[in-house]
Amino acid sequence: MLKKLMRAITAFLPVDKRRTGACIGCGACCKLPYTCPFLSHDASGEARCTIYRFRPPSCRKYPRTEREWLTRATCGFSFNNGHAAPGDAPQAPAPAAAAPAAEPVKHVP
Ligand code: SF4
Repeated sequence: MLKKLMRAITAFLPVDKRRTGACIGCGACCKLPYTCPFLSHDASGEARCTIYRFRPPSCRKYPRTEREWLTRATCGFSFNNGHAAPGDAPQAPAPAAAAPAAEPVKHVP
């Protein structure tokens, strides 16, 4: 309950700029920590919010930060820090770092 209250309060803060992706309608965040009474499912089983246009900021901005991202196993969002979301394409390995330039030789008079 405390976490839900904190999420409601911090929802007025900006979304972390490292967040990428989009909601894929898994509905997992609509069950934190209990199933929202406005959660519904369409014929295909995709989660639907029955008050979508009027949903509170904590729902609009979820996941606002990586710390509050409790649904990473199914969520379509991710954060640019090496953690991949289920729908993310595999990342290419980072190019090898160039060898550091040799220190210029200092000639002491
Ligand atoms: S957990 Fe992520 S993908 Fe699933 S409904 Fe919530 S925001 Fe959308």
